[in-house]
Order: sequence, then C-alpha cells, then structure tokens
Amino acid sequence: MKICRTIPSLVEAISRAGRQSIGFVPTMGFLHAGHLSLVERCRQENDLAVVSIFVNPSQFGLNEDLDRYPRDLERDSALLEKERVDLLFLPGRADIYPPGYATYVSVDGLDAVLCGASRPGHFRGVATVVLKLFNLVHPQRAYFGQKDAQQAIIICRMVCDLNLPVQIKVLPIVRDRDGLALSSRNIYLSPAERRAARHLPQALTMAADLISRGVQEAAVLKKAMAEEFAKDRLIQVDYIAVTGLQDLVDLTLIQPGNTLIAAAIRVGKTRLIDNLILGDLSC
Ligand code: AMP
Repeated sequence: MKICRTIPSLVEAISRAGRQSIGFVPTMGFLHAGHLSLVERCRQENDLAVVSIFVNPSQFGLNEDLDRYPRDLERDSALLEKERVDLLFLPGRADIYPPGYATYVSVDGLDAVLCGASRPGHFRGVATVVLKLFNLVHPQRAYFGQKDAQQAIIICRMVCDLNLPVQIKVLPIVRDRDGLALSSRNIYLSPAERRAARHLPQALTMAADLISRGVQEAAVLKKAMAEEFAKDRLIQVDYIAVTGLQDLVDLTLIQPGNTLIAAAIRVGKTRLIDNLILGDLSC
C-alpha cells in the first residue's frame, strides 16, 4: 500500500497506476468494521482501491469534538494494508485548506434539516471536502455508509447537480453485537452511556416491527420511538424523523421504497445517529 501525504504525490501515484477503474472510500479514520465493509467492497469492484483519512475541520462546529476526535493512524494503516488497499491518502489540513481558501459547496435545503439543524455548516464542510477529494482521486465509484444516510443523500444530490462522473454506492449499517451501529465516537461512551445508547437501535427495530404489522402513520412510529428513548434518563433526543428518501421532507404516511426513519440522540456528551430506510440510497 502506497501512502501519499501530499496532493502532488497522490496525483502522481494515481496517474502512474494507470489502471482501468478507481474505487474510493473517504473516511475520518479510527477505522472499524463499518469502514472496512466499504473498503472490502471497493477492493472487489475496482482495479485500484483508494482510501483517504482526513479529519475535516470544516465539518465540525465550534463546540464539537474536532480536537479530541479519536485517531490511530498506525492501526488504521495496518488494517488497510490487510484489506489490500492500493493507495492511502493522508493529507494535512493545509493541503486541503491552504491559506486564502474560500470556496465551499452548499446543497441547499437538504443541509438544513435533521442533523443539519443542530450542526449548522456540517454538510457544507462534508460536501466541500468530498468534492475536493473526488477531483483529486477521480474515482469511478465511491463508497459511503447508510449509517450517515443524510450525508449519502446530500452527496448523491451534489453528484447529480454538478454532473460528477462518479457512481455512489451506499452500503448497509454494520452493527456491534448489542445492535449499536459502529461509530468511531462510540469510544466516548461510559458503560452506563453505552447501555443507554442501545435504545437507539431498539427504537428503530420497534419502528420496523410496527411497519411489518401494518402501521403507516409517521406519528405512531415517532411516538413509539420517543417512548423507547424515554426509558433512560441519560438520553436526550435531538430529533426523530420520518421523511422522503430524496428530499428529506416530513411524511405523514410512510411510502414503501421512499422513506427514511432517522433519529439522533445525545447520551452524555456524545451525539449518536441511526436510521432505517425503506428503499435504496445508491445513485
Ligand atoms: P467517517 O470516518 O465517520 O467519516 O465514516 C466514513 C464512512 O464510513 C462514511 O461513509 C460512513 O457512513 C461509513 N460508516 C461509518 N460507520 C459505519 C457503519 N457502522 N456501517 C457502515 N458504514 C459506516
């Protein structure tokens, strides 16, 4: 695996590789089995597998965890080496945002709801860095997790709106044994918080169960999920949403093939997200 720490070295390595298809997995590192599921698929479907690790400052708010975001580059590179990744891109902040940097991408509307409502500017930072990385790596396929469903929806909108020549593949959520979606941030949870966090996947399982029993009303699903969260006083609900898959507009009734059921909670200082989709996010 070749490690590139600067933009010129990445550009040179990609042009030298000269293979037919490039697959790309952008990450912020501290890798877990969720990330590796994307890497494995990328490896299978492409001649050249490229992964980036960059903790992107522009997607963190002022009071968020940019400085304490977990990092372990040595472990991450060993895992990626084992997955037979060809190129690992590890840019520094000044490579991506040099002095005078002034250009940002906004995906209007979609970036202001759900997670965007409590994290203003977050998706502008995500869309900007992903577009920059696409412009450097030139992938035919890029791999994202359903875990961050709103992110995937926004990236698909950007790819479509800006006619970017890349296919976006969105892969299922990888979970721990207790059902909690794997996340680099789970490491912040104390044992009591971890127990509380389990109510997040449980609420979604309950919603799926209600749907399988014929419930269609969003209000009924949201109420059941809120009741699940109320079982633990460590949980503060950020949002519970039932929306369309492409437009993220609230639904009154679920639509088979076009529904996102998503929630964000805070457990102590840690913000956790999870979701259930009826349909397909890839584009
Ligand atoms: P991050 O490092 O958090 O920016 O995540 C990098 C990519 O991994 C994103 O596309 C995430 O959606 C995806 N991802 C994170 N957690 C999971 C998970 N539990 N299962 C599948 N994909 C995930």
